[in-house]
Amino acid sequence: MTDCNYLDLKNNVWNVGLCTGCSICATVCPMKTIYFDGDRLMASVHCKNEKDCVPCGACVSCCPRLDTYKDKHGLGTVISAMAVRATIPVSKKQSGGAITAIVYNAVKRGLIDAVVTVGQDHATLQTYSTAISDPERIVTYAGTKYVWYTPPLLALRSIIEQGTARKVAVIGTPCVIQALRKLLESDNEVLTRFKSHIALLIGVFCTEIFDYATTMAVLAERGVSPGDIRRMDIKKDIIVETYDGREETIPITERLHRPGCDACLDFAAVDADISAGSIGSDEGYTTILTRTHTGEFYLHSALENGCAQGVPLESTKLIETFAQRKYRKNAKGT
Ligand SMILES: Cc1cc2nc3c(=O)[nH]c(=O)nc-3n(C[C@H](O)[C@H](O)[C@H](O)COP(=O)(O)OP(=O)(O)OC[C@H]3O[C@@H](n4cnc5c(N)ncnc54)[C@H](O)[C@@H]3O)c2cc1C
Repeated sequence: MTDCNYLDLKNNVWNVGLCTGCSICATVCPMKTIYFDGDRLMASVHCKNEKDCVPCGACVSCCPRLDTYKDKHGLGTVISAMAVRATIPVSKKQSGGAITAIVYNAVKRGLIDAVVTVGQDHATLQTYSTAISDPERIVTYAGTKYVWYTPPLLALRSIIEQGTARKVAVIGTPCVIQALRKLLESDNEVLTRFKSHIALLIGVFCTEIFDYATTMAVLAERGVSPGDIRRMDIKKDIIVETYDGREETIPITERLHRPGCDACLDFAAVDADISAGSIGSDEGYTTILTRTHTGEFYLHSALENGCAQGVPLESTKLIETFAQRKYRKNAKGT
């Protein structure tokens, strides 16, 4: 634990610094020494490693901000690049509904037992980590949650502890996916119980994620309550559509995003099995990059079972441009 630059266990202080809040440390900590209180990462004094010299190191073995993150950028390995849209009805889809179609198919066919993702309370826009095993419910979780409120991975721990799922897919931002890939590749024995359960990593393209409290304050200044919001989208600015037909354009300023995002170099979720985003495809489609044979298998299963349709992308140039832009902006500070 002494290697962690971000969490001072002795003083119970979260040194926000580069920490993304991906919550992998709290998810894998066997003693639950590291935990979240609302949106704050906390630590109690029960770290076995720190106090009793019992070898653990689970948290530092998979923290995406230690050692590895500077190498994670660019387009990454790509087996296939496609524009994909769901053919099942996905009313709240963010782009083409392809992510929903892929995980819907995987659960429906019994390829996986559950999906770990992020849900959102409609009245408050507060997010929560959740594991869903009913394909019809998966469809209701479509849409992007651009604000960060709670740790995204805690449901992974719960579902494994409950013993109700053998194989799980996780949807996450690039930092979350980097953490899970690191976990899968780690030889730390404490992490073994997680490894066999993680079947598929779906990463979303990500420029940044917004701090909940700051975003809500900016919306309040414009007379928008979280419960008024029908849809959020990011173009150059944040576009907020309300149920009563208003559209607010909120410029993306430094203060809106979470501090840990400033050090992230990874736009395209290079460690995922499947990466997904809106840019690079026409309206109504999701850009899907498969990076591993696992990713290929799950995408083609959704296509072959009629849950989605896709066409090959002619070019990945625009995705590379976005990836380079994020790298250039954030590499200076790392
Ligand atoms: C924080 C964030 C920033 C993004 N920034 C960009 C960007 O700059 N450029 C770009 O091209 N694309 C970006 N995306 C991806 C884009 O918004 C869509 O998620 C993607 O195109 C897939 O669309 P879809 O219609 O296939 O997904 P849908 O079928 O709508 O399904 C989305 C799935 O992702 C899950 N999900 C939503 N938000 C989160 C979250 N925060 N954490 C974990 N799971 C989540 C949902 O629960 C749902 O299961 C971003 C996504 C996120 C979460």
